[in-house]
Amino acid sequence: MSRVYNFCAGPAALPEEVLREAQADLLDYKGSGMSILEHSHRGKEYDAVHQEAIANLTKLLQLPDDYAVLLLQGGASGQFAMVPMNLLGEGQTADYVNSGAWATKALKEAKIIGKVNVAADTSKDIPTRMPDPATWKLTPGAAYVHICSNETIAGAQYKTFPFTEAPLVADMSSDILSRPFDIRQFGLVYAGAQKNLGPAGLAVVVIRKDLAERVSDKVPVFFRYKTHLAENSLYNTPPCFAIYILMLTTRWLLKQGGVEGIAERNRRKAARLYEAIDGSGGFYRGTAMKEYRSDMNVTWRLPSEELEERFCKEASAAGLKTLKGHRSVGGIRASIYNAFPTEGVDALIEFMREFQRKYG
Ligand SMILES: *Cc1c(COP(=O)(O)O)cnc(C)c1O
Repeated sequence: MSRVYNFCAGPAALPEEVLREAQADLLDYKGSGMSILEHSHRGKEYDAVHQEAIANLTKLLQLPDDYAVLLLQGGASGQFAMVPMNLLGEGQTADYVNSGAWATKALKEAKIIGKVNVAADTSKDIPTRMPDPATWKLTPGAAYVHICSNETIAGAQYKTFPFTEAPLVADMSSDILSRPFDIRQFGLVYAGAQKNLGPAGLAVVVIRKDLAERVSDKVPVFFRYKTHLAENSLYNTPPCFAIYILMLTTRWLLKQGGVEGIAERNRRKAARLYEAIDGSGGFYRGTAMKEYRSDMNVTWRLPSEELEERFCKEASAAGLKTLKGHRSVGGIRASIYNAFPTEGVDALIEFMREFQRKYG
């Protein structure tokens, strides 16, 4: 068996150790004679998995007592809807900072629920970048301020977060647990699991508990944060297997030195790749402004679309898979999340040098 280097933006590479453990556990979970896929979500085996996943996240994110972790379904897109359903009250305005494709999707969903003010918009800017918080036009008394911390498609990322008067809400799907941040700056943070945490379909939500009380009783019970908070995310059958993989991935992350440890490695991985791009004499051109370059999704162009296509094809033949940029923007994108190995980045850099020698 040979594993390739998978640069996919999501679902993305998982730690090999996690996959092996899941494989070993699959038929007979810890001597129970059945798979974790078959265990009751009310039984002690699954309960231990569930509690550990939440405990690991609480530890990794250093959550104070007034914050809680929720494990929900529907991915990040489900949260695009749940955030305004729960936090945007009648007659209130929510501020949305539009930094790109994902932020745009989030704000479109909020507009269906209530009033939205676009506080800043760099979604069409080339080179791609995040709107500088000093330029945001915020609404006094806004229900919340929504941002996307890392635009997965554009490869742009906030390097610091502002302090806002209204609760700051962040879609951190593609960079949660990749670097430290202070949760106290945020009212709510959410992420689809398939980039940095585990399988698709699962959403991890971190909420300041008092915000769960805001919801109107017109919102269906299932879509209230309050419901899941009260039931510790066991209101109904949770996505047990996805949470099991999340538990293994967070356990793995703790062994890597936690968020601090992985952040250091992430920075080095990305810096090496950007160095290769910048050192190519213009053959490779980064698409994001330098101060907003993402450590998770590295995006660049070649001199022509034809060369980009050839690049992806030859890379794929060399075991460097899914480097094609998102269909909406083209170019090349290397997604190098927590679980993506440093050797894979080195292999890509070597391939880039070789490719330039041949076609540059
Ligand atoms: C992938 C992604 C999403 C969408 O996630 P789904 O789980 O497919 O809904 C949303 N936001 C960001 C920043 C993403 O990278």
